[in-house]
Amino acid sequence: MSRGRIIIKKTMDSETKQCEKCQREFIIQADDVPFYEKMDLPLPSMCTYCRWKYLLAFWVFGRFRIAKSALSGKTIITVFPESVHFPIYERSEFVSDAWDPLTYGKDYDSSRPFIEQLVELQSKVPHPHQTGIKNFNSDWTDDIWESKDAYLTRSGLHMESVIYGYRLVNCKNCIDVTYSFDLERCYDCLYCFKSYNLKYSFNCHDCIDSLFLYDCRNCQNCFMSWNLRNQKYHILNQPYSKEEYGKKIKEYNLKSRAAVEELKKETWRHIQQDAIHRQDYNIQVERSTGNFITNDKNCYGCYFLEESENCRHIIRGFRSKETVDSVGALDCEKCALEVQVGMDYNNLCCLYTNNCRYSSYLDNCEECEYCFGCVGLRKKKYCILNKQYTKEEYEGLVEKIKTDMKKMGEWGKFFPLSSAYCGYNLSLAQMQFPMTKDEVFQFGAKWEEAVEPHYENTISGDDLPDSIDQVGDEIVKQRILCPETKLSYNITKEELAFYREHKIPLPRRHFDWRTLDRFKPFSLMVIPQKGTCYYCKKEIDHYYSPSLGFQKIACLECYQQEVI
Ligand SMILES: [Zn+2]
Ligand SMILES: [Zn+2]
Repeated sequence: MSRGRIIIKKTMDSETKQCEKCQREFIIQADDVPFYEKMDLPLPSMCTYCRWKYLLAFWVFGRFRIAKSALSGKTIITVFPESVHFPIYERSEFVSDAWDPLTYGKDYDSSRPFIEQLVELQSKVPHPHQTGIKNFNSDWTDDIWESKDAYLTRSGLHMESVIYGYRLVNCKNCIDVTYSFDLERCYDCLYCFKSYNLKYSFNCHDCIDSLFLYDCRNCQNCFMSWNLRNQKYHILNQPYSKEEYGKKIKEYNLKSRAAVEELKKETWRHIQQDAIHRQDYNIQVERSTGNFITNDKNCYGCYFLEESENCRHIIRGFRSKETVDSVGALDCEKCALEVQVGMDYNNLCCLYTNNCRYSSYLDNCEECEYCFGCVGLRKKKYCILNKQYTKEEYEGLVEKIKTDMKKMGEWGKFFPLSSAYCGYNLSLAQMQFPMTKDEVFQFGAKWEEAVEPHYENTISGDDLPDSIDQVGDEIVKQRILCPETKLSYNITKEELAFYREHKIPLPRRHFDWRTLDRFKPFSLMVIPQKGTCYYCKKEIDHYYSPSLGFQKIACLECYQQEVI
């Protein structure tokens, strides 16, 4: 991301520039500048949103598929598309001594752009088929850690028996849950915490045996309610006796898909018209801006960031410090332009690295320090383009490459979009900042249709029985075609048992589509908006896109007064 050429005006506080991608004006805050200076980086030439789109395009969401390890031929499940431009090794083979990434080493050619040479290397060096370790019986997953019996699930830690999950910590016996922590026996939930037997709910904490809730705390046996605190036996925010509640709940035909879909729509209408929305979702933050940030200090323009300090422009991170312009920064310090990295220190432009320090332009390296432009290395020091140097040689050559890169305007630019592992539409960028095919091409990114295996004798999701009571055991042998996406899926035995036990109708749409659909509100809550508090009419900054149609957006004070 090179220095933008068009500087419109410069003041003492900030600098306004024109984004080289979307052409919109954007501001570089005076407080951003020391971050770039410390890392000897030029100021960004793209607005924050284009920077995030760019970086997120490298983070694979993908589609699960069966492939073969290029080393052993062993069957693997991966989210990398077939079009990927490098060999894929099964993860345990990737970290074994069966191959040596240094054999791919190249001399630096000062007559050619460095990044071009790096991308050539990247396309030859094998990559692991998935990220995540210490899992048991969880082949159909990606980016999951220390988990057991997880299936078709991405991004999670400490999970057990989770199906179709995305971004979860400490979840057990759940299906179709997204971005949630500490859930048990839950179904179809988004952004829920410490809850048990909660279904069809969004933004709830400490709720038990409840359905269709929004922004509820410590509630039990509640149904289609919003903004409740410490309540039991409520329907549509009205109290009932235990007996009345039980009777009333039976009247809702929760085993029927048509009925549940109608109830979900009704809940959303209440969220739009009746629920009170706090101006942001932030919890315990000091001098910080952004949305969905928790326990952060001095963080500016960050989203989905927890327990971090002095960070700027981060989407998704945990326990990071002094890091700027990154997506997926876990335990990072003093880093910039990072994608899906963990425990990195003082790194620049790294992609899927783990535990690396004082390094730049790494892809899939682990436990390396003082490495520059390397791919697939483990426990190495003083390497450039996968070639080993002495300390003195390394320092001299890095200085020369940096000077050359600065001359060519390459220094501080991330890997080119053409080298992303998958198309924009199969990456997290599409989830967070959806674009049409034309917009993706205009942005300079790739678009690709995933190759789907063809199955005979499928049935349409629309032809599934409406009630779970009408579903026979043979359904687990049936391939189902999602009427929305034309992608096929099946129902596993464990899944069917869960639906029967919880009296949940079979899903008629593909699981990825369900996750993306559930995540949708989050793509509409990451841009600051100017508005007025519904109650006191004070001017406020909030994060709800007008397209959400939320009527009652309140300042913090009014929210606390109204929601007790
Ligand atoms: Zn832009
Ligand atoms: Zn107010």
